[in-house]
Amino acid sequence: MHVLVLGSGQLARMMSLAGAPLNIKISAYDIGSGNIVHPLTQTVLGRGLGSAIAQADVVTAEFEHIPHDILDTCQQSGKFLPSTDAIKAGGDRRIEKALLDKAKVRNANYAVINTREDFELAVEKVGIPMVLKSALGGYDGKGQWRLKNTADIATIWQEMSECLTSSDNQAIVAEEFVPFQREVSLVGARGKDGSIAVYPLAENVHTDGVLSLSSAIADQALQDQALQMFTAIAESLDYVGVLALEFFDVDGALLVNEIAPRVHNSGHWTQQGAEICQFENHLRAVCGLPLGSTKLVRETSMINILGEDSLPNEILEMAGCHIHWYGKEKRAGRKMGHINVCGDYRGELQKRLCALAKVLDQRAFPAVHDFAKSFSN
Ligand code: ATP
Ligand code: MG
Repeated sequence: MHVLVLGSGQLARMMSLAGAPLNIKISAYDIGSGNIVHPLTQTVLGRGLGSAIAQADVVTAEFEHIPHDILDTCQQSGKFLPSTDAIKAGGDRRIEKALLDKAKVRNANYAVINTREDFELAVEKVGIPMVLKSALGGYDGKGQWRLKNTADIATIWQEMSECLTSSDNQAIVAEEFVPFQREVSLVGARGKDGSIAVYPLAENVHTDGVLSLSSAIADQALQDQALQMFTAIAESLDYVGVLALEFFDVDGALLVNEIAPRVHNSGHWTQQGAEICQFENHLRAVCGLPLGSTKLVRETSMINILGEDSLPNEILEMAGCHIHWYGKEKRAGRKMGHINVCGDYRGELQKRLCALAKVLDQRAFPAVHDFAKSFSN
């Protein structure tokens, strides 16, 4: 099988690595340049979406911010999975919110803002404090504002109106501020036959709006809630592939924050911690193969490497530590790679995270240092 991935970043790269043992070949389409590239070497293999699609058996995507004309071309080919509707929902918070309501899954109360008048109405409907998010183009916490008191309405409106006029079809989604205790996510796959296999939930820590530490957790009550919502959303989209849901945990009740219609950063731990990783399961699903076991085989955490292109070599000597670089050029804050850390039992994983905190730079890896501090207290 030959799978074309829209996008040529680390997710296409890791799909390529996971697909090789099953003889699934990946090529990547770089949307910016229009080049077809090798996902590991970035070597240019050809040009143009039409020829990229023609050469592939299946087309899928590694991100959701894809121009709709490209999605429409993929749709017409009849080869695209999970579905162009799912990608559109992931890339537009208005469509995403409507989908969550249609699937009857709990999510934060919201209102859509296009004008100053809408903003006033949203303040009435949603209340303060409020989180404001651009409908299109937001990621890693970018394109967001927090309204904490009415005195800030004018200043925030100034910034939001610039955002509204900066691109066609832009809008703002205002959400009630959710006082959550923690953030968790569920990554799972749905096959062509409708079968569903989900991984254990991951608990996620963000640093400056970017995921920094993600750990598989065992919580049956939360897992059951998450699976029910996953099933409702995946079935309402007739989804095929890996889907990720981000949740807020409020006193043991989950609310969906957002969906990602693709393999997800909070599922990278599955490369070492689950029997079959998310990348292989995504490929299995879109290729019409049986899904693989999502069982946890080792307690695992994932640490994102942000804006760094080297690590102390002694990490390679540490049992249970696995480094995954993405082959990207260094830029401040950029996702450059990740470290998966495993233990045969939770206490062993915790000890290894503490040992890593001793060799990782505190400024670059604050979440690991915070973990080590809380653990020693
Ligand atoms: P990413 O794509 O990296 O997941 P994003 O830019 O799409 O992020 P969100 O996940 O919606 O944005 O929001 C980023 C973070 O802001 C969340 O992880 C959460 O910590 C916080 N946040 C978002 N919405 C709310 C809310 N309604 N109430 C409280 N906090 C929120
Ligand atoms: Mg998010």
